[in-house]
Amino acid sequence: MRRPNALVLFRAGAAVLLVCAGLLGYFGLRVALESSSTADRSLEQLKGFEIAFTALSAVTAERLPTEAVLAADSGFDDNELARMTQARRTTDEALKRLESSLTEFGWREPPNFNFLSARLRSERQRVDLMKTTPLHERRVGEQGSIIRGFISLSESAEPFVDVAAKAVIAADTDLGGQVTMARLLGAMHEAAVRLSSEVMPTIAAKVVIPIDLQSAVLRTQQRILALWDVGASQLESAPTHERLAKALAAIRGDYFGKGFSFLQRIVERQSIRVNPSLNARRISALYEQTTQPIAELRDLYVAEMVDGARARQKEALTNTVVTLVLTLTMLAVVPWLGWIAYREVLRPLLVFRSQIVAICERKTHAETPYFGTVPQVRGLYRALQTLWELEREREAIDRERQILSERLRVLSETDQLTGLLNRRGLEVALAELDRGASASLAFLLFDIDYFKAINDSFGHGMGDRVLQALARILSQASAPGVVAARYGGEEFAVAVADWSQTDVLALAEEIRREIECCRIPNGAEAPLQVTASCGLAVASCPDADWGELIVQADAALYAAKAAGRNRVRATNAILSQWTAQTTVEPDADTSLDAVLKAS
Ligand code: GH3
Ligand code: MG
Ligand code: MG
Repeated sequence: MRRPNALVLFRAGAAVLLVCAGLLGYFGLRVALESSSTADRSLEQLKGFEIAFTALSAVTAERLPTEAVLAADSGFDDNELARMTQARRTTDEALKRLESSLTEFGWREPPNFNFLSARLRSERQRVDLMKTTPLHERRVGEQGSIIRGFISLSESAEPFVDVAAKAVIAADTDLGGQVTMARLLGAMHEAAVRLSSEVMPTIAAKVVIPIDLQSAVLRTQQRILALWDVGASQLESAPTHERLAKALAAIRGDYFGKGFSFLQRIVERQSIRVNPSLNARRISALYEQTTQPIAELRDLYVAEMVDGARARQKEALTNTVVTLVLTLTMLAVVPWLGWIAYREVLRPLLVFRSQIVAICERKTHAETPYFGTVPQVRGLYRALQTLWELEREREAIDRERQILSERLRVLSETDQLTGLLNRRGLEVALAELDRGASASLAFLLFDIDYFKAINDSFGHGMGDRVLQALARILSQASAPGVVAARYGGEEFAVAVADWSQTDVLALAEEIRREIECCRIPNGAEAPLQVTASCGLAVASCPDADWGELIVQADAALYAAKAAGRNRVRATNAILSQWTAQTTVEPDADTSLDAVLKAS
């Protein structure tokens, strides 16, 4: 597997982060939008439910003042009439809102509204007709029939609540429980009102409650108790609102503690014997009052449902906005942070890395400045700058050392007095000459004659000047393939590669003559003239060997000295003829020219 590259990893990481941020944002936004639209729809449908529910409650509520008017056994009471008129107005308004809601909320198959309103009109007409009839002329059966008509009106309004409830649950299934509870409370209130509706006409007519009515009342009572059982246990188990808890307590105290038991006792007594002093209107008014907490709890519950839905809608909207802002922030911040991290950290690190590698490998590399602000990277950059500084110092020291070692080498190979190569320098130069030579090698060894006497007579300073003058002559004789050196003391060496023997001999003779002709200034005294003897050895490649040649040249020098000095002598065979003639005195013409001429 290939090793992961930092840049590739970084880019892949940034891309993955960006894609994840995008996906997270997309799904988060989708969920937020969905919950927002669910909250919108459920709130909308809850409004419809509230309208239908209010209409049903209004139809039911109209029954009580109506009953009171019908049961008015001591003439007309303006108060009762006013209450009934007010209740009718409330019902009309609620039904008007319900009618306009039929198209607004898009309920599926809404029940026949015209049928409901027509029936309401007809029941009201019957009430209006009866209320003008004197009490003693009113028949119980007819009163009962009107009340039953009103009860059935409530039942006709029920389907509107049904469709509204279905629409709420379709919009948000979570609201199913709350809708059922609201309807349960509505049904309980309706049953409580019905209880009064069932018995009031009989009480008003001052007749014994018949057995079939007794059992109907018992059924209604059982229904109320059953609904209360379920409703109370549900409401008490859920964490309730303070107002809900209060309403629950009021139902327990006012309705079940007073109204319900009060009516129950009256029914029990009236079933056996008629109490002529009973005032149906007052009983109805008292009982009605005790049913109020049920209506209040019902309305409170519905209002809380709507409030809850509103809060959820607000929350969903907030969630959507927050998710949108977070998503956009992430989508903007991730690339921005990535670019900053790349520019301020990763790219400098990669550059620093290549610069450190360049320093380690001693390669030239441009120093890239770091302008970023990340402290850790700045610290690294400072360390790198120190490293560059050290590297520059090291390079300077290296250069200086090279110069010094070169100077040392030159010094160690140079004779201080004459500036010619010394013995060590000569050895190096001989090795080089040997490598380049292909035909022959020659070694000339010069020794100043009677030099000790010069030192003794004129001092060592003069001796040194003589040595320097000779060095000048020798260095002038230098040419390609020729190396001159001070061999030691007053002895000088000239090494030659690939010269013909004749040329080598000519060179030796020329140097000797130049030494002889040289006049060395000696202060106020006459200039000094010195001579030198030369021993010469020549050998052909590849057998030539400097060691042997030097020994031979030394021997030849010895011969030159022995032959009287100021002359050239060689040990090899070619020069034997010339060597043989050097038995002449030094002042005789023993030069090579003469020898060559003579031969
Ligand atoms: P010969 O003709 O036999 O060569 O006799 P010579 O006197 O030249 O030889 P010798 O070996 O007796 O003397 C060499 C002298 O060279 C001895 C020494 O004091 C002198 N000498 C060697 N090196 C130097 C130097 O650097 N400067 C000076 N002034 N004299 C030196
Ligand atoms: Mg000597
Ligand atoms: Mg000498």
